[in-house]
Amino acid sequence: MSHGHSHDDDHHHHDHDNSYSDMQARVKALETLLTEKGLIDPAAIDRIVETYETKIGPRNGAQVVAKAWADPAFADWLRRDTTAAIASLGFTGRQGEHMRAVFNTPDTHNLVVCTLCSCYPWSVLGLPPVWYKAPAYRSRAVIDPRGVLAEFGLTLPQETKIRVWDSTAELRYLVIPQRPAGSEGLDEAVLADFVSRDAMIGTAVARSPEAAI
Ligand code: FE
Repeated sequence: MSHGHSHDDDHHHHDHDNSYSDMQARVKALETLLTEKGLIDPAAIDRIVETYETKIGPRNGAQVVAKAWADPAFADWLRRDTTAAIASLGFTGRQGEHMRAVFNTPDTHNLVVCTLCSCYPWSVLGLPPVWYKAPAYRSRAVIDPRGVLAEFGLTLPQETKIRVWDSTAELRYLVIPQRPAGSEGLDEAVLADFVSRDAMIGTAVARSPEAAI
């Protein structure tokens, strides 16, 4: 296991999370007000958030992964300059400025966490899931990554190395899962369907073509 950086050096980079918490409090207050006035249905909001977490947001990242699988030149670019390669597909913006793609291999599985707060590559993954922000995930992903993955239903061979990457406001990671067996010759649009949000955080692997149907 290795870390992208030392935490002691990084506290000053996390100013954004105070404003994020403040924003969350404001959003919560607004939601309460609108609900009390009968203007919105909290269940409808939950559905919208769920859609952004699991469907709309991560489709950008899935396109990045699919292109990396299908186009070796793009994969190489993604390794050398992740931010620029991703921007070339039009995925830019807040919390996506400095990206690093980490590639899973037969020997090594990558897992992303933000131990201090909830830094996350919004431009390619959308909204972070609740568990990503939970203290249990943030602490245990570092201490016992294999155990955490098992709880996500992902049991890796004992000989597979797990590298844990700790995100900061300045550097966010995108896991490039291994291309599933049986996906040879499929085009990018189809390949992207095999790539889940969790596969790009590292708590899952890419679906196989059989399982995805
Ligand atoms: Fe953070």
